[in-house]
Amino acid sequence: MTSTTLKTPATGDYEQPTGLFINGEFVKGVEGKTFEVINPSDESVICSVSEATEKDVDIAVKAARAAFEGEWRKVTPEDRGKYLHKLADLFERDLETLAAIETLDNGKAFSMAKGDVGMCVSTLHYYAGWADKIEGKVIDTNHETFNYVKKEPIGVCGQIIPWNFPLLMWAWKIGPVLATGNTVIIKSAEQTPLSALYAAKLVKEAGFPNGVVNIISGFGKVAGAAISSHMDIDKVAFTGSTVVGRQIMKAAASSNLKKVTLELGGKSPNIVFDDADIDNAISWVNFGIFFNHGQCCCAGSRVYVQEGIYDKFMARFKERASKNVVGDPFGSDTFQGPQVSQVQFDRIMSYIEHGKQSGATVETGGKRKGDKGFFIEPTIFSGVSEDMKIVQEEIFGPVCSVSKFKTAEEVVKAGNSTTYGLAAAVHTSNINTAIEVSNALKAGTVWVNSYNMLHHQLPFGGYKESGIGRELGEAALENYLQTKTVSIRLGNALFG
Ligand code: ADP
Repeated sequence: MTSTTLKTPATGDYEQPTGLFINGEFVKGVEGKTFEVINPSDESVICSVSEATEKDVDIAVKAARAAFEGEWRKVTPEDRGKYLHKLADLFERDLETLAAIETLDNGKAFSMAKGDVGMCVSTLHYYAGWADKIEGKVIDTNHETFNYVKKEPIGVCGQIIPWNFPLLMWAWKIGPVLATGNTVIIKSAEQTPLSALYAAKLVKEAGFPNGVVNIISGFGKVAGAAISSHMDIDKVAFTGSTVVGRQIMKAAASSNLKKVTLELGGKSPNIVFDDADIDNAISWVNFGIFFNHGQCCCAGSRVYVQEGIYDKFMARFKERASKNVVGDPFGSDTFQGPQVSQVQFDRIMSYIEHGKQSGATVETGGKRKGDKGFFIEPTIFSGVSEDMKIVQEEIFGPVCSVSKFKTAEEVVKAGNSTTYGLAAAVHTSNINTAIEVSNALKAGTVWVNSYNMLHHQLPFGGYKESGIGRELGEAALENYLQTKTVSIRLGNALFG
């Protein structure tokens, strides 16, 4: 069996692929292994899916290589764009089903999951539009030589994605890799394989030639490691933790020096000045940390509030956070569902415990919610010092710290004090403060008077240990292109 019938509370029955999608077909893994997919809302088993091992990665790479050297190479840029547009249309057609799968498997609120799928549609259309706009250059060096510079695809790409935005990360990766003419093996996270497999069905329906897109489920240490160390994968792109990012880079270095792009962790500062519109700031700070249950690499987990409004801000932020509806992710007013897994739940709870033991004050939350499913109350700490673990390390859950500051200089120093540099935000009504502080923050994205507002046209990625390369926008195309210089000597120049 490579599929099963599942039911979601929002959309009813649907056919869920459970095999590995290799060379245009759903197949079982060579070693016949499977693993269980857990519903984080009630800890029940949703279904089992095939697990890819090294041998399956090998087969997928061969299929991707054959497609790259064969049929895909002959497809015109215009037609590459048409395939991607078609895929985007199919995502739009099945938006409710895809979102419901995401909610079932990941636990994110259904309304948010629909937002994610909407962003997938935009991202796929956006990269479809780029497919026939990738251009080279002619460069004059002297009158005896004609030089042109071409942009070419890198080849077979491996992409390893995380569980926090299973489908959105899939679209962010698939869009640019295909627009630029590469082929791909994409591995979903072991916690959330279902939406990627359903999307594989849509890849087939969109009519991509076999082997161009291969989608596998499997574990990081097995299938992920096989991708990052494979001798015939030309490039690996990864989104996940900084710890694993380092391992991937090492594996690439000690295998075939495949090109590497990494989108890693963060511990982003969210800074509120005295002159900010306080209601607006509270809404964005709340959204900045508690959106997606704090499971965002760019989550605004370190909140800094200027001393003039600190007390008022804290009182109202606490009130706001405690009103976030935590519960059944299919509930119509739910904002926050369960954390994705027992492992993540335990990790977050141990950070909360650590915060309490190191003397920080729990302003609100700090406990598990209910006794079934991985639900955690929105948690705010105050009374923290910069060297505390809960201020320095990425918690990846609904937990933030709030600190008081006096001057812009002081808060910029604190904001830049971690090893990360993914995102930051500034809340102020003064344009000079907004621009000067944004310029001084060492982060790949700075939001002013908002948070988490990602857009497919805008590059996203990390300074420092938050990553290498940029996703989204035109910038992401560079990750999947290489430059060829052709220099033609014209011989005896006629007009010499
Ligand atoms: P988290 O710690 O939040 O679960 P990870 O960074 O471990 O996030 O996982 C993100 C992705 O990286 C997943 O697809 C996972 O399977 C994969 N992964 C984990 N470990 C490795 C590894 N050693 N090599 C390659 N991929 C890995």
